[in-house]
This record gives sequence, C-alpha cells and structure tokens, in this order.
Amino acid sequence: MRWLLGVSFGELMLKGKNRNTFINQTRRQILKALEDFQLGDNFVDSGKFFVEVNKDDFPEIIKKARMVFGLSYVYKTLQVEKDLDSIENGIKYLIEESNIKEEKTFKAFANRSDKKYPLNSMELAAKVGGFVLKNFENFKVDIKNPQVEVHVDIRKNAYLYLDKIPTIGGLPLGTGGKALLLLSGGIDSPVAGFEMASRGVEIACVHFHSYPFTSERAQYKAKRLAQKLSLYLGQIDYYQINLLNIYTAINKNCRPRYTTIIARRFMMRIADILADRYRIDGFVTGEALGQVASQTIQSISVVNDASKLPIFRPLINMDKKDIIEKGKMIDTYDISIEPFDDCCSFFAPDSPATKPRLSDILKEEEKLDIDSLVEDALATLEHVKIDIDNLD
Ligand code: ATP
Ligand code: MG
Repeated sequence: MRWLLGVSFGELMLKGKNRNTFINQTRRQILKALEDFQLGDNFVDSGKFFVEVNKDDFPEIIKKARMVFGLSYVYKTLQVEKDLDSIENGIKYLIEESNIKEEKTFKAFANRSDKKYPLNSMELAAKVGGFVLKNFENFKVDIKNPQVEVHVDIRKNAYLYLDKIPTIGGLPLGTGGKALLLLSGGIDSPVAGFEMASRGVEIACVHFHSYPFTSERAQYKAKRLAQKLSLYLGQIDYYQINLLNIYTAINKNCRPRYTTIIARRFMMRIADILADRYRIDGFVTGEALGQVASQTIQSISVVNDASKLPIFRPLINMDKKDIIEKGKMIDTYDISIEPFDDCCSFFAPDSPATKPRLSDILKEEEKLDIDSLVEDALATLEHVKIDIDNLD
C-alpha cells in the first residue's frame, strides 16, 4: 500500500499522434511544480500519471498540481494489491483516514482498463458499495447526487480514491504557438501571460526599463514576475530593453499628451523585430478596456498600427478586482504591488490623449528619427533564460 498523487490528462491529450509527447511534457511540468516535495516513484499506467508522495504533503501538493495546464483531475490515491480483500481494506483505510464523521451520501465507482480482471466494473462497484455500507454507518447510498465518490480504478495496479479534484484545466503548453508577453512590473501583464498560456501558448517575455532613471530593483521585480510564471510555463526566454533614450526623445520633441501612446508604439516596433529574430507568432499585453484613460479602442487601434503581428489582450473585458484575484491565485500579485516603478509611470503625462487619432500621432512621430531610436534601443538588448532556479 502506498500513497500517490494520481493525475488524469485533459481530453486533447488522448487524441492524436502527439499524445505521448504531451504526456511526457506535462509530466515534466508536474514534477517541476512538485520539486520542493520529497517524491518517490513516478510512472504512467494506462494513460494516467502517478507519483509517490508523502501523505502529509497532500494538501500542498494538490494545490500545486492543480495549477499545471492540460490536466483534467488530480486524485489523492492509494495504491493497493488487486485482490478484493486488499481493495476493501484499502477503502476502509481511505475512508477512516479522511475522517468523515458526519452522515454522508456516497456512490461507488469502478473502472477497469485491465479487462482480464475477474470482476467487471458493475460487479466491482456493487461489491465496494456493499462493503462501505456495511462498515460505515454514516454512509448512505445516493447514486444521483452523492456527496462522496468512492473510486476503484483497476489498471496494471489497483488505485483507490475518494472524489476527483478539479484542476485549472487549459491546454498543454506548446500546443498553440509562441507569443511574446510585454511584461511591465504591474498587476495585469503577468495575469495576461498566464491566461494566454492556459490555451497552450508558449510565452517569452520582454520588459522595457529606463535604467538608470528607473532602479535595478524595477528590473529585478519584472524578472521575478517572469519567474513566477515559469512555474506554469517552464523555462522562459526573457528579453530586456532600455527605453530611456526613446522616452527622452519623445519628451523633448512631442506633445506630452501623446507620450504614452508613442512609447507604446515604440515597444511594438521593437517587439516586432524580436518576433522576427526569435520566431514569435504574436504578442500579449495586459490591457483592459477603460481601466486607465489610455486604454480605449482608439488607443488600441493606434498601437496595433505599429505592429505587424496580432496583439492578444486576454484581460480586455475583465474588472480590476477579478484580475487582482487571478494575480493572487498565480502568486504574482504580491510582487506586482511592490513600489518599484517601470518607465511608463515616470513619463506618463498628467492628461494623456484618450481618443488619439492615428494621423495626429504620425505627425508627432515625424519629429523623431524612429529607425535610429529603435536600433539604439535594440543595442541594449539583454537575453536571459529564467526558470524556477535561475533569475539571471
Ligand atoms: P500592467 O499592470 O501590466 O503594468 P497597466 O494597467 O499598468 O498594465 P499600461 O501601463 O497601460 O497598463 O500598460 C499596458 C500594457 O502594456 C501592459 O499590460 C504591458 O503588457 C505593456 N507594458 C507597459 N509597460 C511595459 C514595460 N515597461 N515593459 C513591457 N511591457 C509594458
Ligand atoms: Mg503598468
């Protein structure tokens, strides 16, 4: 008898030729997410993944494992021998251990992918149901709406668990192309990156800073946000660019009300070049309509004009409070609210244009040598690979 974390994969995993690649990739993600815990054996049995864990770690382990993309359920699982006695003893132990004292309705479920097993699923479920009824006075059957599910799963081994624990779902990473996340130090962009990644999109990050006008702490903060994302994304390509000269030139030459939007257009031009170099298919930003004065349809369309590739804005219709909630869930929020500012807030004008017209912006930009400003900014490019162990 031993305790395992059981994992079943999302539907997509069960289809097609890439199934094993997905399973292996996701398996690595799970083990990475659990690397702080003492783990035993890990293996796949008929399409389900199992890893041996210490029982006391379950609450924390389940919290972590639920956050890996591409899973459907996780299970606190007891592995036992396949004979009926061992199964019944295991069920007894599982229910006693779960410490359910009050009255509960339950239903027994059996599944066997080992078709040679002497009992079929119906027979096995009936046996287990009868056993529970006999041994636990506080358990009553309800096959329509049970409060507790008692599962027996016969594969190469026999696995027992109560209840399926839902996960964040999503699609396995890497199934949806690669996007470059424009990562500020704020609350929104890390959440946007997470949302996009949940649809299987691999994420690289670019952060624009204004060192020495902004501090090294601000850069470090953005890197730590990327590191939090790497928990879900695996190793992340992280690019950092100094935008100070561009801000200075905009400040000197252009009307202040357009500073933010012109700077954003520079970010997109630079991002476009990075996309070309590093095989990126699109961009992600944390904009939400109406959240700040500059996040209007008109601004968005003027920003889009500066980029060849599509810009995805997965938070576009979200309330700030829901974004904050998500940020807390993925553990980026506490870092986001640290007080080290990125470049944008320093150079933000008192009253930005809320409905900029592209023709006005283009006229302002004629005062700048766009190509050489972009080229100089690109010369400051730093590229690091960030993962859970490594920030630089
Ligand atoms: P966030 O909370 O993500 O900073 P925000 O509400 O502050 O967003 P803006 O400052 O208008 O919104 O920025 C909109 C988006 O532009 C950000 O979500 C981010 O994707 C991108 N962005 C802004 N500043 C930077 C930066 N310094 N480096 C990289 N991307 C940035
Ligand atoms: Mg911001």
